[in-house]
This record gives sequence, C-alpha cells and structure tokens, in this order.
Amino acid sequence: MTASLDDLPLRDDLRGMRPYGAPQAPLPVALNVNENTHPVPEQVASDILDDIAVALHEVNRYPDREFTTLREGFAGYLGHGLGAESIWAGNGSNEVLQHILQAFAGPGRTVFGFAPTYSMYPLLAQGTGARWRAGARQSDYSLIVEDAVAQIAEADPDVVLLCAPNNPTGTPLGLDVIEAVYETTRGIVVVDEAYQEFAPKEAPSALSLLEGRPRLAVSRTMSKAFAFAGARVGYLAADPAFIDALRLVRLPYHLSALTQAAAVAALRNAPTMLAMVDEIVAQRDRISATLEAIGYAPHESWTNFVLFGDVADPAATWRALYDRGVLIRDVGIPGHLRVTAGTEAETTAFLDALASVGSAV
Ligand code: PMP
Repeated sequence: MTASLDDLPLRDDLRGMRPYGAPQAPLPVALNVNENTHPVPEQVASDILDDIAVALHEVNRYPDREFTTLREGFAGYLGHGLGAESIWAGNGSNEVLQHILQAFAGPGRTVFGFAPTYSMYPLLAQGTGARWRAGARQSDYSLIVEDAVAQIAEADPDVVLLCAPNNPTGTPLGLDVIEAVYETTRGIVVVDEAYQEFAPKEAPSALSLLEGRPRLAVSRTMSKAFAFAGARVGYLAADPAFIDALRLVRLPYHLSALTQAAAVAALRNAPTMLAMVDEIVAQRDRISATLEAIGYAPHESWTNFVLFGDVADPAATWRALYDRGVLIRDVGIPGHLRVTAGTEAETTAFLDALASVGSAV
C-alpha cells in the first residue's frame, strides 16, 4: 500500500504542481530536449577520462568548494575581460538559476518572464516559494523595448528571467531590450544564454553589458553546444558581489570533484568540443527551409531547435512521429511543435517521417 501526495504534509504552495516531465522514451531519433546529439569526440573523451582518473585518487576528500580551476576555465572561455571572481557554476544552469532565485527571490517575492519561455522558470520560482508572473510577447515571439519596459514597470518584479535566444521559440533578443529592462527594474536581471553558441557569430552577448551593472547576470550551460548534458554543468558571469550572494545558498561542495575534473578537461578542449556547432546550425537551417517548403511555418531560430506552426493537430502529428521512432516536443503552444536539430541522418529521419505524416493545414 502506498500513500498519495495528499496524505503528506506537503507545503501548501506546492499542492497541485506538476514536476518537469519531458518524456524520456528510448526512441531511435530523440530530438525533444535540445541536446547536442553528437557524442563527445573520442580524443576529448579520453583526455577527460585521464583527468577524472586523477580526481578519483583523491575522492576520499571533499572537492575544492570554490571550484577555482573551473572558474578560471570559464572566465577564459567567456573572454570579455572577466576574471574567475565573476564566475559561478552549478550542476546544470538549472541549479545556477535555482541559486539565483534562492538568493534573490523566495517567499513574498516575484519572478517575471515573457511567456512562452523556458518551462523550468515557473517551477524554479515556485520551488523557492516565489510567485511566477508571466508577461506577453509580440505575435512573432519577439520583445520590443517599449512594451517590455511597460510590462516590467507594471509587474515590479524582484527577478526578471530573459531567455536569449528564447526557448521554446528560438527568438533572438536585442541588447537594447536587456539594457532597457535593467534600467526599468530595481530587481535582478538574468539573461539565460543557454543557446548563445548557436546564434550568428557576430551576434553580441549580454556579457558585454555586465560592466557597471551589478544586478545583471548572464547564465550559460555546457549542456548544448558543448555536448555535455549528461555531465550537468552550467555557469554564469556577474559582478563578484552577486557571486557572494550565491555562496549564501549553495550547498557546500555542490560540484563534485569528478564533475569539476570533467568540465575543466572539456573546457581545455573547447575548440574540438564546439566543432559540431556549425554542422548543427546547418541542420537547423535545413529544417526551417524544408518545413517552409512543405507548408509549415517555422519561426526564426538562433538556437539548435526550430519551433514550427501551422500544424493542424500537434498531438496527432507528435504521436505519428513517435510511432515512426522520432521523438520531438509538443510544448503546448496551439498549432505548434518543436524539434531539435540532430545529426544529418537524424534530421533526415525527422523530415522524412514528417513528410510521410503530411498534415500541414
Ligand atoms: N535554460 C534554457 C533556456 C534551457 O533550454 C535549458 C535546458 N533545456 C536550461 C536552461 C537548463 O539546462 P542545464 O540545466 O542542462 O544547463
């Protein structure tokens, strides 16, 4: 006999909530959670294993609580004159975002984001006891300064989460909007650049806005471009005082010695790790062009996925693809589905399967 949630003295504000639940099904073509579907290159994998082996010999000791070598690695990778004192990291950028909300949101406070956006934001806000407030986007999912600023002024949030480029829509975000939002709010502004490496090379990063803006943080992840989703490594850059705030809420030794060793070695091999980005971008653009040609309405994407509209019955199309061994994502936007750019073969499998389903309105 097992109890149900209702039998437990759960926090009242968690009652009725649903956990994050992207399906994890063992299908041959998995293009549903925006992973990098290219494995870590063999020579890098063996370099990483060497470092993990060294770390293993000292695993009887707690790891460096300040993960100094890793922070130096991220500072070097990000450039923009950043030093290790401006870097933070966690087990995925989800944990980094959780640290931010634990420090700056929490009970009685408000977290704001422009919907549709990353589905974990409301869960992270509510998990820390804060209130989630969803703002609106333009009809093409972009944000414009005047409207964004008006919504922020009205909501007066404690934390603003700006996903740039945005998940699940792929939409780019101009630095002018970020600057204007920062000027408008008294709160923290987080720019989530999980997909930044897939944006055009000349596209500026919000990292260039950090100087002189102590309430701004830019988060990144190794889960996407670095093909490191299973290792769970995310990071951010912000003013050193901001980093001090995160130290108040992190668990001691939250980044294991094995994680630190793996991430440091992966960063050392950044150019090889990132070698597949151009190929993924090419497959993304191929998806967009092909979807358009067969009658769907793909949205502009600066990420490794494409949101497409004009799907007559998303649930039925999702199921038909599933039955053909292709897993994509129904993100709950009417008439839309989202697909991750895979290898050339996976992308072909998706496009062929979709063509055989053939139900564009
Ligand atoms: N931010 C965005 C916008 C994402 O799409 C994701 C993953 N899907 C994350 C953060 C979290 O990624 P991770 O915890 O693997 O770094």
